[in-house]
Amino acid sequence: MYRIDHWIDGKAVASKSGRSGKVFDPATGQVQGEVGFADVSEVDQAVATAKAALPAWRSTNLSRRAEIMFHMRELVAANRKEIASLLTKEHGKVLSDALGEVARGLENIEFACGVPNLLKGGYSEQASVGVDVYNIRQPLGVVAGITPFNFPAMVPMWMFANALACGNTFVLKPSEKDPSASMFIAELLKQAGLPDGCFNVVHGDKLAVDRLLDHPDVSAVSFVGSTPIAKYIYETGTRNGKRVQALGGAKNHMLVLPDADLDMAADALVSAAYGSAGERCMAISVVLAVDSIADELAAKVKDRIPNVKVGPGTDPSAEMGPLISAEHRDKVAGYVAGAAGEGAKVLVDGREGAPGEGFFLKPSLIDNVKPGMKCYDDEIFGPVLSMVRVSSYEEGLELINDNQFGNGTAIFTRDGGVARQFQFDVNVGMVGINVPIPVPVSYYSFGGWKASLFGDQHMYGPEGINFFTRSKVVTSRWPDPRTSKVDLGFPQNR
Ligand code: NAD
Repeated sequence: MYRIDHWIDGKAVASKSGRSGKVFDPATGQVQGEVGFADVSEVDQAVATAKAALPAWRSTNLSRRAEIMFHMRELVAANRKEIASLLTKEHGKVLSDALGEVARGLENIEFACGVPNLLKGGYSEQASVGVDVYNIRQPLGVVAGITPFNFPAMVPMWMFANALACGNTFVLKPSEKDPSASMFIAELLKQAGLPDGCFNVVHGDKLAVDRLLDHPDVSAVSFVGSTPIAKYIYETGTRNGKRVQALGGAKNHMLVLPDADLDMAADALVSAAYGSAGERCMAISVVLAVDSIADELAAKVKDRIPNVKVGPGTDPSAEMGPLISAEHRDKVAGYVAGAAGEGAKVLVDGREGAPGEGFFLKPSLIDNVKPGMKCYDDEIFGPVLSMVRVSSYEEGLELINDNQFGNGTAIFTRDGGVARQFQFDVNVGMVGINVPIPVPVSYYSFGGWKASLFGDQHMYGPEGINFFTRSKVVTSRWPDPRTSKVDLGFPQNR
């Protein structure tokens, strides 16, 4: 049993709240650690530390901030295996998947290395006689990140890299289910040269989150998690005058047209539905198959499922690990159990043959799913793929656009014209064309539409820079006695 502390002012600080949570090894189902849950005074301590570190950090020149990001980039790259093994240990995902998570997170640190260029403003000389106008982007102050269990390293990197590079100081409240990666990252940031107090971690539950949402010294909150909590975070944070971006859940559909390469589509479906045990907000959980190819596509997916090797994340041959908790596994299994009673057809039942120890389920495939069934309407967030049969492209598009979520979607076709029309018509924030998991590269931004995002700015990339800064416009005139006079009219430029 190990114990996970907070990270405040550049060092580990044990929680004294008397409240804590268990950290499980999802591959065995055993408790392996205990994480202290912050009380209000511990959150206040972290925020006060971040506030104290702010003046010096926001005054640190851009080259130095970039240099620290470059060092961090090197440290994360050098320690990628250590970070990945922590992810496997507490989240359960297989090592290859965990390494992929670290690599995608690293992209965001690389992006932040360009901060001197990213923060360049505009300058207009002679906007009026002797008057120049320019804009600058300044940090917000102390900002908070609240993150989900499914990407314990990457999602914090989506946030803190840009936030810190822009001159903010940061308080992270990671998921209490897999908290160790954030502590490792905190140590690396220190080694990279980040001054103490600029990056702090408080562990905990609703109590810690609510204090961050209430705290008058927290200027902005960046959140990723489920939709009901995202909505709550957005509403509470904005009511308290904070800038908030809150990314929520998903139900990502993949539309397969009759002209698609069905083997490629089936490979993509198996990878995108069952990778990371379906615990990805960009997982494909619904395939919309046009009637004429639905039987063939279902057969191809079904044929591939027995080859997916389910096992502990530490087993190098395993492709899919356990789910995060016993409750979550049982909830996911409940959707499979209920599907037949709602009129769907379970083609592969992942409850059968799953390893006995740990929080395992095997992949499930459910056919003849329709809107109104629970397995269609809810975000399942597990290794369950639902097939909905549609008569046409139009019917498929309508289903996607009618869905409450709009995180990711994909179309598989050989017809460029239809794919282009899809990208034009679909009400979803991230679209893949023959790409099943279209997570944008770090120099674009990540974000869904509809109930998948509350707020105006998407995560990371250029919108991440905007989120963590505010614009100031300066109108300047240097003394020139020739242009000085009294004029009580509203300033005009002509
Ligand atoms: P979650 O909403 O349960 O938890 C997210 C964070 O909120 C955690 O830090 C948690 O401690 C905190 N939290 C939980 N309940 C709270 C409450 N009542 N009040 C205040 N804070 C609370 O999400 P999760 O189970 O950790 O993660 C899975 C969810 O995240 C899925 O819905 C998934 O789709 C979503 N997700 C979305 C994205 C995206 O980019 N849109 C990315 C990853 C995960």
